[in-house]
Amino acid sequence: MEQNGEGKMELTKEKDKKNKICKRCKVDYSPSLNDPISCRFHPSFFVCRRHDDQKRYYELGPDDPPYAAKFYDCCGAEDPEASGCTTGFHVSYDDDQ
Ligand SMILES: [Zn+2]
Ligand SMILES: [Zn+2]
Repeated sequence: MEQNGEGKMELTKEKDKKNKICKRCKVDYSPSLNDPISCRFHPSFFVCRRHDDQKRYYELGPDDPPYAAKFYDCCGAEDPEASGCTTGFHVSYDDDQ
């Protein structure tokens, strides 16, 4: 793993004090206050299809949407604003290199 900015500590110190934006929950957070339950997020995507438990096949009418539901694939929450079903560290856009 590459240590980025190791030789430039003097230059990056100011920047590191600033809050970062978490790319999972879009929250503005302080790196020094980041712990394993800081971030609530959905590990999977919000999808548009049948729930896995809706195995029953049915024919779509011409006016039906091509899916039965919109929900988070990880937990089945149907509200896009539903709070995350998983917790973890915040991950900033800078961290993922
Ligand atoms: Zn979820
Ligand atoms: Zn987060």
